[in-house]
Amino acid sequence: MNNVLPKILIVDDLPANISAMRKILSKVEAKLFEAESGEDALALCAEHDFALALLDVNMPKMNGFQLAEILYGVKRTKGLPIIFVTAAEADAYQILQGYQVGAVDFVRKPIDNRILLSKVGVFLELNNKRRTIEESALLLQEKNQQLEYEIDQRHQAEDKISRAYESRIAISKLLQTALDPISLEEQLDTVLDILFSVPWLSLQKKGGVFLVDQETEDLVLSCSRGFSDEQLEFCSRLKPGVCLCGKALEKKQIIFSSSSDPDHEIKYEGGVPHAHYCIPLLTSDQVFGVLTLYMEDGHKPIPEESEFLTSASNTIVGLIERRSLERQLKQQAQFDELTGLPNRVLFHDRLNQSIKFAKRTGKDVVLMFLDLDRFKLVNDTMGHEAGDILLQEAAKRISSCVRDSDTVARLGGDEFTVILPQLTHPFYVELVTRKILEQLETPFNLPQGEALVSGSIGVTVFPNDAEDAEELIKHADSAMYQAKTAGRSTFRFYTKEMNTFMSERYKLEADLRKGISEGEMVLYYQPKLNLTTGAVNGMEALVRWKREDIGIVMPADFIPLAEDTKLIEFLDMWVLENACRQNKIWNEMGYSGLVVSVNISTLQFRRGADLVDTITAILNKTGMPPELLELEITESMLMENVDQAVVTMESIRDMGVQISLDDFGTGYSSLSALKRFPLQTLKIDRSFVMELTEDSDDQEIVSAIISLAQKLKLNVVAEGVETAQQLKFLQEHFCNYVQGFFYSEPVSVVEFEKLLQEKKGAIEGLK
Ligand code: C2E
Ligand code: MG
Ligand code: MG
Repeated sequence: MNNVLPKILIVDDLPANISAMRKILSKVEAKLFEAESGEDALALCAEHDFALALLDVNMPKMNGFQLAEILYGVKRTKGLPIIFVTAAEADAYQILQGYQVGAVDFVRKPIDNRILLSKVGVFLELNNKRRTIEESALLLQEKNQQLEYEIDQRHQAEDKISRAYESRIAISKLLQTALDPISLEEQLDTVLDILFSVPWLSLQKKGGVFLVDQETEDLVLSCSRGFSDEQLEFCSRLKPGVCLCGKALEKKQIIFSSSSDPDHEIKYEGGVPHAHYCIPLLTSDQVFGVLTLYMEDGHKPIPEESEFLTSASNTIVGLIERRSLERQLKQQAQFDELTGLPNRVLFHDRLNQSIKFAKRTGKDVVLMFLDLDRFKLVNDTMGHEAGDILLQEAAKRISSCVRDSDTVARLGGDEFTVILPQLTHPFYVELVTRKILEQLETPFNLPQGEALVSGSIGVTVFPNDAEDAEELIKHADSAMYQAKTAGRSTFRFYTKEMNTFMSERYKLEADLRKGISEGEMVLYYQPKLNLTTGAVNGMEALVRWKREDIGIVMPADFIPLAEDTKLIEFLDMWVLENACRQNKIWNEMGYSGLVVSVNISTLQFRRGADLVDTITAILNKTGMPPELLELEITESMLMENVDQAVVTMESIRDMGVQISLDDFGTGYSSLSALKRFPLQTLKIDRSFVMELTEDSDDQEIVSAIISLAQKLKLNVVAEGVETAQQLKFLQEHFCNYVQGFFYSEPVSVVEFEKLLQEKKGAIEGLK
């Protein structure tokens, strides 16, 4: 700016004067502007900033003083130094007038060159200095402003840092809370305290946390601060989309609202105007709830608020997730997944607690063991899915019979337990027991069809029956076992005698195990006769347990135990091998063509391909021709998994081994399934044959089975034929084979050989 030439204005109505002055001032380092009237001068002044004006005093229209007065009155030219050029005769009055309008000096005409030059020089110098001063003042002012701006920035940065610091402390406190061993509700309460204590966040101590009810998807107020009763009532449960909190949940984004917001409806009585934030608590795939925080009415939001609240909400979500995971793990560890009932772990815990409590209060604890009768059959015939649904429904039914303070647990399979702590009246036990049995007797309507089951319950009472939980459990189990043996849908209270019975059962199991391995098992054979020829053409191998001190034990007395303990697999293998070996011997002795039938248990049949391999191995080992072996299986084995059964049976048939369906008529075979099985023989169950001559119903059934077998091109064997009348009926109805006491009971090897040699008995009777 300094190197720009200063501007001088020369005003004179006489051009000659102007040019004279121009000439003089040509030596001055300045730019000259000229005007011949006051008006022209004013026009120039509007456009330029002059360093000095030389005004002629005497001018027509507007003289120099008048012009100076105007210039003095205008802001731009107020401080403009003026040198009046006056006539020599200028009087004191004129000079005074000149000073009043800001004149700084006078030059008299005729102008003395040196005086004018020196005066102009001084003024220009002055002007220069003034300009420099003005410029540095301006610079100073700018610097000042810059400094103020920087200070302001620094304050803002400091504020930001301290906010960030306070925010970080709050977040770490929130994280800390997650580790506290307190309930989720208590944790959320602490969360509110932490948020309210963040100094820069201008929160009123008012707000709350809603959690999403997973079932209804409603927002349920979990904890709150500063809410009035009316608000508590209004806010206790909100639908998604209702009110700002519901909207934040629905939109999955933070909503800020000052009270003037049209969405900000205060719908409950006595609501005070306020601003607030509604922050959804969510992850990318789940919504947990909404955090709501109140601020003063009309609050202006700043970006840091939502930034902080977003990271706070993420931390809170972590806290909720952690808690729900913990809850889930605890649930899994203590509850049965299928029925939702307490599992074995929690059952033991509850029983121990109840016993502890009973010891202090002198009250009784009742423990029930419950087992579903026929559940296995449902599972086997209708499938596991049906079994699962039935268990779930049974769990509900049992639970509906007891009070909330009682515990119903599932130990596994179809075993349930019920704990009635603090029994007040013995009558209640029987009431509950009968109610449960009644509930279970009601048919179960499953998607796969109707299922009928029932329950067997064993009941025992602490401290009467046992000294501790372990003993109590053992006794409840024996009582349940007794109920089961007594028939379906019954209950038994534990008695001391049961204890003896149970220890006998355990002893029996040990004996049986020993008996099988130490050769106490023997096979008896019962002949099967061809009704057309009257000849023995086969025999069923039936196992007997010959105990040293007791004598012969019948299968009914040890097969169920062998099945329960899986010893049956071992036993069946033994029977199969020995029956094959014996038949091979008879074949070699000349009794050729005898087919030996061996009973196969469910467990064995389920082994599928393994069973087929075992049979092959046994046939190879014994050298028995496969066509002389017949396997007896029951209907329930086939219906358990029809497709699998067909595959197993086809491999058995392909080996040349025959299959007979034992106890036919007592199970649930469907005719369509029956057609798919590669069977050769149906064995009519003994129960139908037994009353054949007296009971016309049984006659109908037996003749129906025979004609069904004929249609399916199967052989029919009638089991349990005891009388000549029964035999006659069967003969008249074209039954192929008979087996029963009428001809012979199951007998030992020696006796069977005798029987074959003599070839008498029923054969005679037949003819
Ligand atoms: P099951 O396979 O139906 O065998 C027929 C049962 O009826 C045999 O009883 C036989 O003695 C009996 N019985 C035959 N004719 C008559 C009769 O005219 N009157 C009467 N009252 N009964 C007759 P047992 O030997 O006591 O066997 C009972 C059940 O035990 C068998 O029924 C079979 O399911 C099972 N069982 C027997 N031995 C074995 C075996 O080695 N393995 C397997 N898994 N089960 C076996
Ligand atoms: Mg049989
Ligand atoms: Mg049978």
